[in-house]
Amino acid sequence: MIYLDNAATTKTAKEVVDAMIPYFTEFYGNPSSVYSFATKSRQGITDAREVIAKHLSVASSDIYFTGSGTEANNWAIKATCDAMVQKGKHIISTKIEHHAILHTLEYMEKKGFEVTYLNVDEYGLISLEELKSAIKEDTILISIMFANNEIGTIQPIKEIGEIAKQHGILFHTDAVQAFGQIPIDVNECHIDMLSASAHKLNGPKGIGFLYIKKGVKIRSFIHGGSQERARRAGTENVPSIVGFSVACERAFRLMEEKTKKELELRDYLIKRILEEVPYAKLNGHPIKRLPNNVNISFEFVEGESVLIMLDMKGICASSGSACTSGSLDPSHVLLAIGLPHEKAHGSLRLSVCEENTMEEMEEVVQSVKAIIQRLREMSPLYEDFIKKNSK
Ligand SMILES: *Cc1c(COP(=O)(O)O)cnc(C)c1O
Repeated sequence: MIYLDNAATTKTAKEVVDAMIPYFTEFYGNPSSVYSFATKSRQGITDAREVIAKHLSVASSDIYFTGSGTEANNWAIKATCDAMVQKGKHIISTKIEHHAILHTLEYMEKKGFEVTYLNVDEYGLISLEELKSAIKEDTILISIMFANNEIGTIQPIKEIGEIAKQHGILFHTDAVQAFGQIPIDVNECHIDMLSASAHKLNGPKGIGFLYIKKGVKIRSFIHGGSQERARRAGTENVPSIVGFSVACERAFRLMEEKTKKELELRDYLIKRILEEVPYAKLNGHPIKRLPNNVNISFEFVEGESVLIMLDMKGICASSGSACTSGSLDPSHVLLAIGLPHEKAHGSLRLSVCEENTMEEMEEVVQSVKAIIQRLREMSPLYEDFIKKNSK
């Protein structure tokens, strides 16, 4: 098998699993309990929070563990709306957010909030001028993703943060694709809230965090016990919290090395596919791009068919995000960068990791080439196109 869907999820690293196991088998006490046996569990959480906070250069008391990146995003938006409704009801976001943001915003719109969805250019970048002119008296929140999960485009987060700060507006960023992949400077970028998720950086699934800067008065999200300083109740997922911190430590330790390897693989894939396959185009920004992301559209083919045929060759890839696959709607991200419907349907996302090899990349290039050729031979659209062009 060749796994090229690391933007959907990653393999849990062995050192992560090894660190988690004792918290199932030995230190299984409830961290809220009084007896000394529970101290181990409690200490596991405290240490994990410190490790993560240290890598983000923030106070550990500003890290709140959640059940996923999705939950962190829901929390940031819903609780901000809840806390700020007296001040205003306007939110600014973008057309290319993950559904965990977009569907939450749609829900808030039904509740009477107003959302401006910023456009992006052909590379997936927002315009800072458009952001500035979208700001109104009653804007309470700017929520813009750090890096896009489909096309890998990295936004000018520092400039966005400065604009938010100048206007006294809270700034949240969905950094699920960025955290552990590329450097993030929360302070320099004036980020008030940041979402992350462990399973995108070789940690376990079902654990995320929301960074909430001290002084940001958003409400509790889950009501119950006093866990997470009474802002996110529920007995802590101790093994996963510990696993997240080990994944975090590992990701930052290996970041430079991983990035170097991934860039080699990524750029080779892009170059070779564009060389070998006619009528193919790279989606997203050529440079302001996650080191592991390749997204290419092919004219005259269906992305789903490409995926099925790749799967028959043991290659795991994606046509957009895992959340849109299975639905017949073309990707909202590809539409937002201006692709027409038929091209948005014929797109392929390949997201590499440092464990992939150049031999695998060459095999993928050959498979993609053969598959696209085969599908085009069966396509009446392609036949028409060739006839027209040979006249
Ligand atoms: C994966 C992802 C999420 C969702 O995180 P989960 O932990 O899977 O809920 C949110 N935003 C982005 C950009 C993602 O890539």
